[in-house]
Amino acid sequence: MKISTSDYALYNRMEAAAQEAVEQVLAARTEGCTCQMCREDMQCLLLNQLKPQYVPLLPGISKEPWTLEDLGAKARAEVMAAAEHAVFVVRHNPRHGHERAPMQNCTEAMVLGALGEVLTREKLALGREELSRLMAEVLNELPPRYTTSFKGDAFARTEELEAASVASILTAIYGALKRLEMIPGSA
Ligand SMILES: [Zn+2]
Repeated sequence: MKISTSDYALYNRMEAAAQEAVEQVLAARTEGCTCQMCREDMQCLLLNQLKPQYVPLLPGISKEPWTLEDLGAKARAEVMAAAEHAVFVVRHNPRHGHERAPMQNCTEAMVLGALGEVLTREKLALGREELSRLMAEVLNELPPRYTTSFKGDAFARTEELEAASVASILTAIYGALKRLEMIPGSA
């Protein structure tokens, strides 16, 4: 079974908070590049430091993006410190001259490949709602890898994946399937 991004819908609530944090840092530190490409690179770098907060986009689940305010004082301070660092790093190594892909979490593509194999092996057919819940659950367990590189980069990176990463993706998928009671817990 092949799963594609059109088979489910989800959203990482940290994306809005990360964007807000980067904008705040840029408003205070006006020296250096503030182009859209650099902003996205800063957001990617920041998001890769933060625990993702994916939610499935389903009726009854709020689509409100998270603000920094929603995070609480301690988490907000951590996000702002990480945002300062991300802005610093990108400004000292800007990549705005290259062709780019839309900002995406590469971990999602890796999970999709593995999930297709798992669903085939387990003979599971999941609907859109179940897939959305499952993908959110799995992606919240794994380190995000946001990038603005083209797919070629993502695929190269997938091939370079160590066995440990593949194993951790499979562990996250099976763990989520059991927690969501989509397969028996005894397996
Ligand atoms: Zn720039």
